[in-house]
Amino acid sequence: MTSNAHQAAPSKVRLCQGCELPIDTVEIKQGRSAYCPRCGTQLYRGGTPSLSGNLAIAITCLLLFVPSHFFNFLSIRLFGQMIPATLPSGVMTLFGEGFYFLAALVIFCSSIAPLLVCCAVISAHIALRNKTFLLLKYSLWIVHHLKHWVMIDVFLISVAISCFKLQDYSDIHIGVGLYGLILLQLFTVLLVSRVSTRRYWEAYQTESSHLFSHKDIHCTCCHMSQPMAPQCVRCKTPLSHRTENSIQKTWAYLVAASIAIFPANLIPISILLTNGKRLEDTIFWCGSISKNGMTGIAAIIFVASIVVPVAKIVGLAYILLAIKFKRGIFHRQRMMIYFVVKWIGKWSMMDLFVISIMMALVDRGQILDFTPGYGAVAFGFVVVLTMLAAESFDPRFIWDNYQQGNRAKNTANQKESFNE
Ligand SMILES: [Zn+2]
Ligand SMILES: [Zn+2]
Repeated sequence: MTSNAHQAAPSKVRLCQGCELPIDTVEIKQGRSAYCPRCGTQLYRGGTPSLSGNLAIAITCLLLFVPSHFFNFLSIRLFGQMIPATLPSGVMTLFGEGFYFLAALVIFCSSIAPLLVCCAVISAHIALRNKTFLLLKYSLWIVHHLKHWVMIDVFLISVAISCFKLQDYSDIHIGVGLYGLILLQLFTVLLVSRVSTRRYWEAYQTESSHLFSHKDIHCTCCHMSQPMAPQCVRCKTPLSHRTENSIQKTWAYLVAASIAIFPANLIPISILLTNGKRLEDTIFWCGSISKNGMTGIAAIIFVASIVVPVAKIVGLAYILLAIKFKRGIFHRQRMMIYFVVKWIGKWSMMDLFVISIMMALVDRGQILDFTPGYGAVAFGFVVVLTMLAAESFDPRFIWDNYQQGNRAKNTANQKESFNE
């Protein structure tokens, strides 16, 4: 078979990374976005690949880290005293009060993950220049795995919410740091949406340098379809049709998250002391805010803190149960649920960011004091566990029992793309 296969024409097929459908790529034009006709996963990103543009954006982001992290983004006038807040100062206060896990989580999502992604893009360029395989592989691994943890946008919304919460107590002044943060957010969004690990691997070694006559597996790391082998010919990642233990891991994270969601909602997540009065807020504090006439804010917090985590757990549990009971219909809907769960994941960090901002600003002893409650720690676990659950799930399981009625030629849906 092999000798015949080698003489056959090179295959123009690629396998979808979302559902393993073999797709004919002959008609896909360069510079167009292409999507899988069955599951809707993006196969190719549109626009002309300009890797040097990514490098310029990554360097800009690095420069913006200085103003956004070391200048005040907000200061308040409280009892005639100006109190500034920088991004690390809230984290330091959390750390000082013994909430190490919360401090680590906040600093990771607001600073370390964006910083690592920017540095990884730069080191990927260095690796391409020097043709260093391992550096390229690890850099792209960081970009691929940490980009979901870049949460500067969530942080900015949290700054706005903190302003609304504080406006009753003090005057609020916006500092240089906030402009730095907004610019940093714009450039990181641009960077994350442009960086495609496939293009870096293509720049390292083009797919056309391997002429396979048949392809039966897709590498999820460098996105090259190839004949079955223990490891990928290009990036040396072990190949498998389904990620090992993906279902078990997702279940484990989900069960842990569903346990943690009870203390997260029932124990206070923050305690505000005003004039000796103790105001304990559980996540249901949106109730108390809506009484003060801030219904919009209450709605945002309700959605981010209660609807999003519950929806993630229920959505993933439904997908897993459908796989277990081999449900034969609505595969496409389950795939949509999976995309939504992945996308909404980070927004539940909002409450924790608000806590860290409030910690930086309101820590004035007996008159007005703000401390997190243990509910916030449980809530932090819910956020991390649900994000890990979504990440460890392999969407190809959804399509295991899909009966393909129409075995016509699979051609990707194309879309004109205007990015880049
Ligand atoms: Zn697909
Ligand atoms: Zn590979």
